[in-house]
Amino acid sequence: MTINIMFSAGAARWAEYETHLRLSLEDMGLDYRLDLDLGPPDAVDYVIYAPNSALQDFTPYIRCKAVLNLWAGVEEVVDNPTLTQPLARMVDDGLTQGMVEWVTGHVLRHHLGMDAQIRKEGDWNALRIVPPLASQRRVTILGLGALGATVGQALAGLGFDVVGWSRSAKHVSGVTCLFGTDGLQEALSGGQILVLLLPQTSKTENLLDATRLAQMPKGAVVINPGRGPLINDEALLAALDSDHLDHATLDVFWVEPLPNDHVFWTHPKVTVTPHIASETRANTASHVIAENIRRGEAGEPFLHLVDRQTGY
Ligand code: NAP
Repeated sequence: MTINIMFSAGAARWAEYETHLRLSLEDMGLDYRLDLDLGPPDAVDYVIYAPNSALQDFTPYIRCKAVLNLWAGVEEVVDNPTLTQPLARMVDDGLTQGMVEWVTGHVLRHHLGMDAQIRKEGDWNALRIVPPLASQRRVTILGLGALGATVGQALAGLGFDVVGWSRSAKHVSGVTCLFGTDGLQEALSGGQILVLLLPQTSKTENLLDATRLAQMPKGAVVINPGRGPLINDEALLAALDSDHLDHATLDVFWVEPLPNDHVFWTHPKVTVTPHIASETRANTASHVIAENIRRGEAGEPFLHLVDRQTGY
């Protein structure tokens, strides 16, 4: 029987995804209909979704076997009470590689002290500050999931002393893995560069508050490509202004787009990037979507299902 797949992730993304999705679905040998609108909701078998979609009431989608999110983060959809269907989040090689590249670039900027050294003129001797080797720099990553673990391995591959922290115990080669409440203080206290790759949940909101920021070493740097609400902004600004922290590189914010008059834009110790750390890539993500549809049709377990209890 023909599988009805509704693309409910916006018209702009449709232009980007349609060809890739059709190629991947055809590669799987699936007999399908794929469109922005498939007529009555009770005919839809799968919804390809983005949380900023117009679709917010899933009640009429009674035949739908899964909602397949194009984003890694699901905080905007996971608590939707009408969503009773299985929800899969995006784990995509392109998205992961993009995050590895973005984090590595920003870690190296701070590790090498590039801001002080990229000059057209200056005092030769004053500029001769030789950075330590990566092995003498501890990078702590909060979140050792699809993104955090791969980023950790990449940084370890460059020689960094990498510590990671997660909710449950993990083994990631090259990374010293800590977990749970006890592990957090140890993770924070040694990390000269802290990378946040946690999801936004009720347990992680405001995780980096004044107490936890105070546990970080003086002169540390925070890099946040996770989610804005992981950090208490007032506490972060206080830690920067008191010179406890050296810098914060922020890609994500409590309110996005970051308002034009927000202090982060002009703060000398803050770098703002506009939620571009990494994007889902249509060519690789389409394969993940098609594989999940194949699994659904074959009665196999879906990949990357969101745990509705933990919220990620
Ligand atoms: P993931 O695979 O679900 O991994 C999440 C990690 O966080 C896991 O290691 C998990 O621990 C840990 N964690 C969750 N709650 C925790 C808690 N309360 N205490 C300690 N650890 C906790 O997610 P992912 O694919 O790596 O993505 C991470 C986040 O990156 C996304 O949720 C999204 O917010 C963000 N993101 C941002 C961008 C961007 O462009 N800025 C792009 C993509 C994603 P366990 O391993 O024990 O479960």
